[in-house]
Amino acid sequence: MRIPFIHHSPVIFIAIGLIVVSTVALAFVSYHYTVGRENLAETTLVQSNIKLAQQYVDRIEQRIVDNDLILNDMIDVNEPGRWPEMVAAVKEADLNVDQVYILSPESNYPLFPPYSHEIRNQWGAFRASFNVHDLDVERLILDQPHHLHMERPNNYFFASYFLKETRAGKPVLVCYQMNFDAILSLLDRRLRDLEDRFYVSIVDFENNVIYGQPVSRASKYFFEARFPTTLYKWILQVVPRNYTELERGVKNQRRTSLVFIILSMLLIFFSLAIIYVVWRHDRQLRQLKEHFIGNVSHELKTPLSLIRMFSEMLVTGRVQGESKRVEYTRVIHNESERMSRLINNLLDFSGLSRGVEQKHLERVNLGTLVANAVEAYRYEAEKAGFRMALHVDPDIPDTLADPSAVTMALFNLLDNSIKYSGDRKEVEVRVTRGDGTLSLAVIDKGLGIPHAEQEKIFDQFYRGSGSSVSGVRGSGIGLAITRYVARMHGGEISVKSEPGAGSVFTLEIPIRTAPEDSGPGDGSPRPGRAENW
Ligand code: ADP
Repeated sequence: MRIPFIHHSPVIFIAIGLIVVSTVALAFVSYHYTVGRENLAETTLVQSNIKLAQQYVDRIEQRIVDNDLILNDMIDVNEPGRWPEMVAAVKEADLNVDQVYILSPESNYPLFPPYSHEIRNQWGAFRASFNVHDLDVERLILDQPHHLHMERPNNYFFASYFLKETRAGKPVLVCYQMNFDAILSLLDRRLRDLEDRFYVSIVDFENNVIYGQPVSRASKYFFEARFPTTLYKWILQVVPRNYTELERGVKNQRRTSLVFIILSMLLIFFSLAIIYVVWRHDRQLRQLKEHFIGNVSHELKTPLSLIRMFSEMLVTGRVQGESKRVEYTRVIHNESERMSRLINNLLDFSGLSRGVEQKHLERVNLGTLVANAVEAYRYEAEKAGFRMALHVDPDIPDTLADPSAVTMALFNLLDNSIKYSGDRKEVEVRVTRGDGTLSLAVIDKGLGIPHAEQEKIFDQFYRGSGSSVSGVRGSGIGLAITRYVARMHGGEISVKSEPGAGSVFTLEIPIRTAPEDSGPGDGSPRPGRAENW
């Protein structure tokens, strides 16, 4: 399918721009999506861990409250006579109680144990933490457990207490001072299975560790939970045991996604660059072809006009004298030769570009072949004011070559040396023998070729800047054909040129005596080099 507007530069640039913009947008969105998804997974993990820690805290609280309710049933405030027996039973039961105080909200002394000199210190210490007058008794709910948790200089005080009423309607406070070690062992029992997966610690508000080992607060997976009503001066802190792996995993995942996104972007940009280069090359080729058609038409027009003009003069008998007639006939002959060379070039070129095989190798002597061709060319060159020199090494051996192809290549080189010679009209042709090779060099002292163009001039349709500037006509296929001829013989063509000083084109082919000793030059272009066609 042919889409004509696709060849326009703005369309290509807009398409490439759109692809770049959408790629960048896609990369941006996918990165954000990936990071967002990871954050969500992370948040879910953190939240489920927070919930878990909260569950453990709730369970510990529930255990303490259950314990309190049992205690509440064990003391009957209406039977003061049995209090010693009841309190003894509480202490003996495995209910974590150190001491029981039964208090009146109005009194400074306990109802039980009765105040005496022996309990003076113990009572003093208790009162220092639990002072009835500091309590807002009005707000206490009857028969419901309440708790007092506080720091002491060397340890912690924890008590459960109940507001009760005697039958006579007198308020009484029953206070159970809990054993610190018993609380620690309760924590230990309740937290053990959590410790399989987490580092667990209980700290106070100053971050003093009460239970477990200090945990890293720096981790993103660190979380803490407060005991709401019982051990409310303490905080449970938890960090997953594998938190470093979790963090590393998230980091790695993020890095992998980023690398993947960058890599795909690079691949897309790389492909775009390739598309752009191919498109540009294609466009250049199209432009070159357009020029080529124009150039070829010009090339054909000039000799055709000359032939028409001189033949008309001869046909109408307007030419005076035999010598003039001979000269005009020679012009017609030369121009028709020129045209036929150009047409041959074109035919060869079109054959070669379609991949048609072009070899008729036979045993030839390059020295003789070149000398004959130069002689045939000499008249035309000298008429144009050129001095032609020929040098052929004496020991040129025979080789396998396609004589018409080599002659065509030589004529192309000679044509160029004349076309691009400017004022210094000297051309030299040299056939020399190298190490297993024969060289055919065409040397001129003409315009020369800029260094930047010396590689490109062998490309099909390429015409140098100098040729267009000086208005020299041409089609841009002569050197491309010459290079093909060189490669067809297993050789190569090269140029040495200085702008303003002239050029040396050297066609070098290997000496071959039989088809089998051909080596790489078996008559086809070298692999990997024929792609210019
Ligand atoms: P054409 O001569 O028809 O333009 P060619 O393929 O023969 O095409 O040559 C390609 C280009 O190489 C020419 O346009 C010219 O710029 C440059 N060139 C070739 N031979 C010479 C030379 N002897 N001196 C200077 N420039 C040359």
